[in-house]
This record gives sequence, C-alpha cells and structure tokens, in this order.
Amino acid sequence: MNKRTVLIVDDEEINRIILGKILSRDYNLLYASNGRLAMKLLTENSNTISAVLLDIVMPEMDGYEVLEAMRSDRNLAKIPVIISSQRGDDETEIKALSLGAHDFIAKPYKNDIIRHRLANMIEFRETAALVNTARLDELTGLYNKTYFQKKARELILEHPDEKYNMFYLDIERFKVVNDTFGAQAGDNLLCHIAANLSEIVGENGICARFNADDFYIFNSSTEALREEELISLISGNRLLPHNMNVKLRCGIYEADDIALPVSVMCDRAQLAAETIKGKYDRYIAYYDDSLRRRILVEQEISEQMEGALRDGQFHVYYQPKYELCSGRIAGAEALVRWKHPEHGMIPPGKFIPLFEKNGFITTLDMYIWEKVCLDLVELRESGLSQVPVSVNVSRADIYDSSLTDTLTGLVEKYKIPCGLLHLEITESAYAEDPEHIISVVSRLREYGFTIEMDDFGSGYSSLNMLSEMPIDVLKLDTRFIQREATKAAGKGILSFIISLAKWLGLSVVAEGVENLEQIITLKTMDCDYVQGFYYAHPMPKADFFSLLASENNTERKNSVIGRNHGSQTKQSDSSEGIMLIVDDTEVNRALLVQTFSDRYEIVETENGVEGREYLHENAGRVAIVMLDLLMPVMDGFQVLKQIRSNELTRDLPVIVTSQGDGASEARA
Ligand code: C2E
Ligand code: CA
Ligand code: CA
Repeated sequence: MNKRTVLIVDDEEINRIILGKILSRDYNLLYASNGRLAMKLLTENSNTISAVLLDIVMPEMDGYEVLEAMRSDRNLAKIPVIISSQRGDDETEIKALSLGAHDFIAKPYKNDIIRHRLANMIEFRETAALVNTARLDELTGLYNKTYFQKKARELILEHPDEKYNMFYLDIERFKVVNDTFGAQAGDNLLCHIAANLSEIVGENGICARFNADDFYIFNSSTEALREEELISLISGNRLLPHNMNVKLRCGIYEADDIALPVSVMCDRAQLAAETIKGKYDRYIAYYDDSLRRRILVEQEISEQMEGALRDGQFHVYYQPKYELCSGRIAGAEALVRWKHPEHGMIPPGKFIPLFEKNGFITTLDMYIWEKVCLDLVELRESGLSQVPVSVNVSRADIYDSSLTDTLTGLVEKYKIPCGLLHLEITESAYAEDPEHIISVVSRLREYGFTIEMDDFGSGYSSLNMLSEMPIDVLKLDTRFIQREATKAAGKGILSFIISLAKWLGLSVVAEGVENLEQIITLKTMDCDYVQGFYYAHPMPKADFFSLLASENNTERKNSVIGRNHGSQTKQSDSSEGIMLIVDDTEVNRALLVQTFSDRYEIVETENGVEGREYLHENAGRVAIVMLDLLMPVMDGFQVLKQIRSNELTRDLPVIVTSQGDGASEARA
C-alpha cells in the first residue's frame, strides 16, 4: 500500500520533530512552520495530502485562519484536519470544530493514540470519498441519476404533505457546442450550468446530471421564490455564459401524484421539454393536461397500430395530379388513411410522425406500396389507360437496407413497369445525410423508378442540392405554393425555382393548389403539373378509377408525368409548337436543333432582325424562343425588348443563351 502524505503545521520545532518521529514510519511527511507556508504546501499538493496536523497558536497566520482558508477552497475543504491543542482547552476545540476541524490530539503527545486517530481519520475520509463517487456525477459534482432518484424518494417520504416540482433542463443542440468549440468547452459549459443550478437550488432541493446535458432538479414548490428566480433566469437565457450562442430548454412536472416512481416524474419533465424542441422563442414547458392527453393518444395509437394493419383499417386514397397545360390527369399520389372503428377517419398527420418515431412506418409503407401495386394491376386489367402513381417513401425507409429489394420485388411480382411507380422522398431527408441518400436513390433510379423530391421549399432548401441529387421530378411544397403563388413579391422566387428545375431537366409539380389565381401564376411560370384541392381531393380507389374512366374516352397524349429525358422520350409527332432559334453561330444552332427537334418544329434565324420579323408574322405559332445575347446588327437584348413590348409576344417564354457571363444574364 502506498504511503499517505501528511502535513504537519507547528511553529515550534520540537513539536514538529516529535510528531515526525511518531509518524515517519507510516507516512510521507511535509512540514510547515506557519500558516502561510502551510497554505502554500496545501495548494501545491492538494491531491496528495491525506491529512493535516494543525497547531492553533502560531505567528503570522494562525490555525483558525488556515481552517477558514481551507474551507473556502473546493479542493482543500475535503482534506481532514486534526488539531493539536492543550489538553482540556474547550474554547479552542469548539471554535476549531465550528471552522471544520475533524479531530484533536492533545499535548503532550501519546504515540499510539496519535497514530490510531490519524489512521482512522484518513480511512474514514477515503471511504466517504468512494461513497461520493458512487453518488456524484464526476464532472459536475451534482448527484448522479441513482442517488438523485433515491434522495427524491426520501424527501417525499420525509415530508409527504409538501408539494414538489420536477425540473428537466437541457441545452438545445448541445452536440453542436461540442462539435464547434471542442469537448473541453462543452465540459466547462456543463460545469457552469451545474454551479448555477446548485447555487439557486441551495438547501431547498436537489440537483443532478444524468448524462450528457440532462439536468434534473427536484424541489419543494413551497420554495416558490427561488423557483421563480430559476424560471426567470432560464427564460432570460441568463444561466449560460453569454458569449455562447446556445439556449436552455426546461420542462416542468408539477408532481401532483407523489406516489409515482421518481423516474416517471423525470420522464414527464423531459417530455414537457421535448414539446418545445426547436422552438427558439420557448424556454419553459409544463407537463399539463394537453400533453398528458397527447401522450395517452400516442400510447393508444401505438397499442392499436399492428391490429389495425391486420384488420385492414389502413386504406389508400388517390389524389390526381393534372397536367397544367391540358388539364388532363397525369398521375396520382397514394395517401394513406386510417379508418378507425371508433374514431372514424384519422388523417396521416396524426399518426405518421408517431410511426416515424416508433419505426412502424416501414411496415405500413410496405403495406401501402403493395396495395398500390395491386390497384395498378386492377387498373391495367380494367382496360383503362394507366397513369403513374407515386407512393411516399419515409426517411426511415431510406435507412432500411432492404428497400431496393422490397421495391424491385414488388414491381416484378406484379409485373408493373417501373415507370408507373414513382417514389416521393421528402426534401428534408436529402439534407440529413446526402451521401447515403444519393447512393440509395441512384440505385433505385438505375432500376427505372422515377424519383420525386417531395415538399421542396418547406425547409432549408438548398439549390446546390437540387443539381446534385439524382431526381426526376420536383414537387413544390403546399405551404410554399400557398405563400409564394399569390403574393407578387414572392413570384420571383417561385419562377426562379421552376426555371432552375427545368434547366436541370426536372419536371415540376406544384402541390396544394387551391385557387384559380395560383393556377394562372403557375401557368405563366411554365409549371408542368399541379395537385391540389382545386382539382380534386384525395379519394378512394373506386372514385379515382371512375374519374379516369370519364376522361378515358378522349384521347390521351403525352400528359403523364415522367422523366423529361431518358426512358420516356416524347415522340416527334407530338410537336409542342415552333421553337424559334436566333443565333449567329451555326454550331450553336445545330446543337439546339439536335436537342429539341423531337419536341418542337424548329425555325432558325441568323440575326436579330430576321428573328424579330419572323416573330412578327408568326407570333401565335411560336411556343418558345432560344435567343443568343451577343449578335451583330441587332443583339439579343434589343430583340428581347421588342418581344416584351409587343402585346402578342409579351408572354412568350424566351431562353437566352450566353457564354456564362453573369452580368448579361442578369440584364436579360
Ligand atoms: P405529402 O406527401 O406532402 O402529401 C400531400 C398532402 O397535402 C396530403 O395530406 C394532401 O391531402 C394534402 N393536400 C393536397 N392538396 C391540398 C390542397 O390543395 N391544400 C391543402 N392544404 N392540402 C392539400 P395528407 O393526406 O393529410 O398527408 C399528410 C402527409 O402524411 C403527407 O404529406 C405525407 O408526408 C404523409 N403521408 C401520407 N400518406 C403516407 C404514406 O403512405 N406513407 C408515408 N410515409 N407518409 C405518408
Ligand atoms: Ca408526398
Ligand atoms: Ca408534399
């Protein structure tokens, strides 16, 4: 066993020598002849000194002052101190005890008594320290989880008539703090919070850190003033160092049922805090009746979901998508509905987020996809014309390694051309783990599935992402359409996104279209497809089939949604009108002709004057103009000006071509 180190503090040399003789066999010894020296040695060796033998009467700094200084230092306060005093000096003993001394030895010294007392004291202290590590969180010194819950229960048993509150606190996006500032800064932040909390809570409650940034406080609510202070500190974001741009959030459970296990009280406080996750203006949330009800409902749903699937309570509804220019049905989205025997029709917003949390979504989605395949088979057999149906692929599905096999297995089993099954993947999934999703989506696409990026514009859309993602169709989010397609200022963003998407070769679907105004706006922006209540609500399969049948008598051309290029190339006989190419460079014209001649009847002109003249005479027949900006005689800018000022050509789509020169692009 290692020798412990003991510090002997006495101004009389003879005493130091005697004590040294008695103890040197068992201990490493340090000596100080006055209080000041003692403090210096203590500070330097706070981790190695196991005990102090302290004389009281000394010049410069006496024993009382040493005791006081030790007590106010967190590292020194835990070192036991034995006072050497004159026998029977009660006054000294009482004062020393009140300052934190632990034991006494009397002069003249008795060898065995001194050795035993010192050994006992050190052993006692070290056992206590061991117990503490079992009780305390090492980093912050607050209670750990087990001890906190035990202590809270004891408090309740001791004072069962009191009212208690359980607080849960954590740092919003603590991981980011660690990632950005480093683990040490993260630790410092936790210690800072811990110190603040234990100071505020003081003797009136107990604090703990469970793990990472999960703090708990259990407090008697009769100490309301301190609680109010705590709440106001949290709401004012004043518990954190202000140089760090982070925020605490706090959940409070007012323990109305003290018979509940403390762990449940902790959970409830935490659940309350979760309700304000990501809400930057909310700091405090209570576990209240509405949360209680919500949790009960969620519990009920979780208990019933598997049975409901077995009983066939989940149904597929179809919402048609329309080609904007012809008004014809171009496809449909499959949306799940839960027909509950007691609660009636439950919309997906009520259960999909929960299923995404508890993982059931993968099971449900597979079920829905298979139902859709069965319906597509029925559609084929009924002789009605077939349109592609898109199904929703949840982000959880993307992380399911069997996704590709499941989907390819389905289309093979039911002999469905891949082009008829589109996959909608929400935009936010792309942002989360782009690399993974790119690889999954590429594989699906290679197989022949058409990929639609869902909800674009609802979150942190990145335009970069659009060009990198292997997708075919861009679905503009309902809220985005409703916000942007009606207000004049926003029209710029919307039309920009649409032209960008088309430039990338994507088809564009606008979702949530509810009125004529939006439709007109979208038409002028050349949006391809629309889906929304204005055209049709989601409907049962039978209704959707009748709708298709009623349209079926009229000839369907190329209105179905698909890739703008690749597998579903449009036939050259379905010309979409004249494309007028105005460019002085022959190579450029040839390139455009090659690219677009299967979709348009092409007319080429070599300069602005010719181009303008052709337009003047054939305004009604031209569908689109490809205009070079830099030409002799009459440049593209002048032509553009004339097109826009003429009543007949004002709304004509014009795509300008230039040598990647930002300034001329902007001017055009
Ligand atoms: P989503 O994929 O964005 O689906 C479009 C939602 O917009 C549908 O809500 C649809 O009814 C609604 N909607 C359509 N037109 C309009 C309109 O003009 N105005 C407004 N305000 N809303 C319109 P629904 O059916 O309630 O579905 C909600 C969400 O639940 C879906 O959003 C989708 O994320 C999810 N979901 C639905 N079915 C499934 C499914 O089978 N699997 C998965 N994973 N998610 C699904
Ligand atoms: Ca969707
Ligand atoms: Ca959507």
